[in-house]
Amino acid sequence: MPEHPYAVVGGGPAGGAAARALAAAGVDVVLLTAEDRPPYDRTVLSTDVLLDPDVAVPEVWPPGAEWRARIDVRTRTPVAGLDPDTRVLTTAAGEQVSFEAVLLAPGAEPRRLRVAGSDGPGVHHLRDTGDALSISHALGRVHRLVVVGGGVLGLEVAAAAAMRGVDVEVVEARPRVLGRGVPAPIAAWIVALHEQHGVRVRTGAAPDAVQRSPDGAVRGVRLIDGTVLPADAVVVGIGIEPREHLALAAGLACDDGILVDASGRTSHAAVFAAGDAVRMRRTGESHGIRLESFSAAGRQGEVAAHTMLGRDDTFADVPWWWSDQYDATLHSTGVATPDAREVLVGTPEAPLVLSMAGERLVAACGVGHGPGIARPVRAAGRVIAARGRVDVRELRTSGGDPASLTAAFRAAARASV
Ligand code: NAP
Repeated sequence: MPEHPYAVVGGGPAGGAAARALAAAGVDVVLLTAEDRPPYDRTVLSTDVLLDPDVAVPEVWPPGAEWRARIDVRTRTPVAGLDPDTRVLTTAAGEQVSFEAVLLAPGAEPRRLRVAGSDGPGVHHLRDTGDALSISHALGRVHRLVVVGGGVLGLEVAAAAAMRGVDVEVVEARPRVLGRGVPAPIAAWIVALHEQHGVRVRTGAAPDAVQRSPDGAVRGVRLIDGTVLPADAVVVGIGIEPREHLALAAGLACDDGILVDASGRTSHAAVFAAGDAVRMRRTGESHGIRLESFSAAGRQGEVAAHTMLGRDDTFADVPWWWSDQYDATLHSTGVATPDAREVLVGTPEAPLVLSMAGERLVAACGVGHGPGIARPVRAAGRVIAARGRVDVRELRTSGGDPASLTAAFRAAARASV
């Protein structure tokens, strides 16, 4: 008999949701996490914690839930090995944990900046609470910050730093920021907002070296074109790499992510996987997709837990994510295909870009001050889920404010079911 019927490796949103679903179904679970706390809400790390290092980081499990007692959480317990045939996990400390079925949810590793001088104090990457606290404390001390990478992480860091009075320059290698999945007009709106807050955004540029003074302190960042940007600290947000080493060493199929089907099954019957570490291939997909988002990770964890319990469940959600910067919120839903046609609707204060495959809506992304853009984007998500159509000309004449767009998308979703 295994010590635990179900094991979960990883304490992010996928592991947390899986353990919750298993425990709520009445079974015992052991959750092994390298971190020093039970699963928590990582989304505050690049926003609230950077504004205030003393802010509480919320747990993802509601306090007092009766099913929590069924989860044996082992913190500071990195897993070093997995034998799927004998069904045993080995921790870095050499302890063995046997299981009937295991869920791998190890998440992802921030891609490291590898240039001269980039190893050492003052150059930060951001993934866990320790990283966020160390950046947040640094923001209280430094005057000039260079952020490498103009993705969602880099821009959230830039916003928090600017709000704390730090002089910020963002360096992005691509011709524009938010090049992965955010339409150009929305990215331009965000850049203008940063510029209003004094942040400089430099595109088509990448670091070549981090310069340090004789005592080792960061002094500046030299770019490939020779320009030197003075800096007291650097934060790097240049993407993530799925943590697949445990799965690879165990002989599981991986391809830039642990390969899973839409129910979270890997290539071994006793092993399931979810979250940032996986590439999910749904029926008919050859390459599959890595969804790097909090909401998808949680739902994938839940789906995999249901599959482990022998229930039918598949991940069919329309992906969505959001980003808070200053007083603005960006919301995005769906996946734009490369040949999708982009249509700009909304208002200058709250633009919304629809990605259309013919008459069918496949993605929507909008931005605005305050949380108001969330509703039309979520309503657009329901149209996408229903594989619905929208009449772009009608939307353009609807006034374009978030309330009219929400009403129009809701009507389109109703008409599609
Ligand atoms: P990202 O979205 O992949 O953006 C990184 C950007 O940096 C890309 O445009 C990348 O270009 C560029 N880059 C790569 N190497 C560079 C270099 N040497 N110099 C300058 N620019 C370089 O990743 P991220 O912003 O680091 O975010 C990491 C993860 O955290 C993502 O999974 C993200 O979804 C997640 N996150 C999400 C939220 C949210 O949803 N609100 C907030 C924070 C973090 P290439 O693409 O060409 O490499």
